[in-house]
Amino acid sequence: MTTVDISELVCPGCGDLVAATPPTGWPRAAGRRPEFSHLDGSVLCLDSRGRVGEPVEAAGERFALTPRAEAALRAAGGSP
Ligand SMILES: [Zn+2]
Repeated sequence: MTTVDISELVCPGCGDLVAATPPTGWPRAAGRRPEFSHLDGSVLCLDSRGRVGEPVEAAGERFALTPRAEAALRAAGGSP
């Protein structure tokens, strides 16, 4: 298992960077606190099943682009 830098993790919902701290104001009744939160302390975006999302690697997201999206990015101004 490789170690991933927290700065390379993003929220799967909005793509914002995440913090390796539980969200603030997480109600005890809601169960186990997530390990990650948005940088402002809010809960990560929920996934399609209504569960709190798990952070994903930003680089992985980029590589997941479809060829069509990559072409669009290139047309929009080259490398990021
Ligand atoms: Zn989010």
